[in-house]
Amino acid sequence: MADLLDLSSRIIDSGHTDQPVNRVTNELSEIGDGLAMVESFSHCVAVRTNEGIVAFDSSGVHTGEAVVGALRAWSPLPVSHLVYTHGHADHVGGSGAFAAAAERDGHRVPRVVGHDNVAVRLDRYSFTNNWNLIINARQFGGLAGELKLGIGDVDDAASSLSVDARTAKRFLPAGTLRPDETFATHHTLIVGGETMELHHARGETDDHLWAWLPERRCIMSGDFLIWNFPNAGNPQKVQRYPIEWAAALRTMISQRPELLLPAHGLPISGADRIARVLDDIATALETLVAEVIAMMNSGATLDTILHNVTVPADTLAKPYLRPLYDEPEFVVHNIWRQFGGWWDGAASRLKPSPDAAVAVALADLVGGADVLMRRAEQAASDGDLRLACHFADYAGWAAPDDPSIHAGRAAIYIQRRKAEPSLMSKGIFLSASRESQAVVDANQLSPG
Ligand SMILES: [Zn+2]
Repeated sequence: MADLLDLSSRIIDSGHTDQPVNRVTNELSEIGDGLAMVESFSHCVAVRTNEGIVAFDSSGVHTGEAVVGALRAWSPLPVSHLVYTHGHADHVGGSGAFAAAAERDGHRVPRVVGHDNVAVRLDRYSFTNNWNLIINARQFGGLAGELKLGIGDVDDAASSLSVDARTAKRFLPAGTLRPDETFATHHTLIVGGETMELHHARGETDDHLWAWLPERRCIMSGDFLIWNFPNAGNPQKVQRYPIEWAAALRTMISQRPELLLPAHGLPISGADRIARVLDDIATALETLVAEVIAMMNSGATLDTILHNVTVPADTLAKPYLRPLYDEPEFVVHNIWRQFGGWWDGAASRLKPSPDAAVAVALADLVGGADVLMRRAEQAASDGDLRLACHFADYAGWAAPDDPSIHAGRAAIYIQRRKAEPSLMSKGIFLSASRESQAVVDANQLSPG
């Protein structure tokens, strides 16, 4: 059992992240009397009451069973309640394992509690099933050990299987429990004499809750703290809510919690330390939003905003704000989308030509797709990988079946992936490289 509170105090107080903070060990650590955390993908935070265990989040489909095993080794009591902090698959996908364990042991299946919008989300996952399989595979694809959903799943979902086989593959695992008890703004859950105040707030999602346990002065913060820059910008997912996220963190600070248990990363103890961490995250989000809104109010285009708004490097160096998953540039897009529309302000992109038509015209102008690719390689060797990717895309669109062009494009995107800090960028750029590698492979050539 790792002493997680000591570890987090040391990392926060020193400002040096000298050990991994997001771990998927499936090991349970007792954080207080009758209070435990199983570090997983997501964590499961458990409160032991004399009427059973209240578990916050079930972890994902691949880790749910290990989490249930860790809880069983901690206490023979049944899990009476499963609270979803929100409906993301890594938080609810393990619920089938909770139900299966209850049935095996002759217990009642846990009563599932969550926000009203959890059910709406689960329905959305059904009617956008393949889309969600594709984007999640792209987001996590190829990063060893992150998820057992590799890039091969993209191919399966997108192309190689028949429609029937594709639809048989579920983004939301079969057996995921739906909420039994939902609420809109606040809900008080009392189990075995333990009071748990559930508060809805929008942040990473529109179905999020955080919990306040007044007797323990403890907060279960779900994904409002993930020990990474807030996941408020994800390029492939629905709207996120940075202002509301910051406001929720401020409400948590006002409770003066002594203990904070997140769904990712390390638990934190000490009212001042918790307040400092939550204030840093709230301030980072509030500052970003204020700068974007000020520029929107001045009539700036998205292009101008993207290339002028930045988050200070010392903020991004904090152990709980590193942009290793999502990143500030993506949050800028999301703020634009929340208060503006999808149009970026460039007139030609309101009703654009097909990418391939622009690319073919450019290739004609400069003397061929290979000239575009050489320009991409030049930009890459000059260290301008953003520019390199534009020319690599144009070259690829102008010559969609040309293995030597696509070998070049694959190499540019591998280089881009290596240069990026965030998992989301790495995943998408790796996926772009693999698109081109597939063209190369289809022509039985190795990349040049
Ligand atoms: Zn999560």
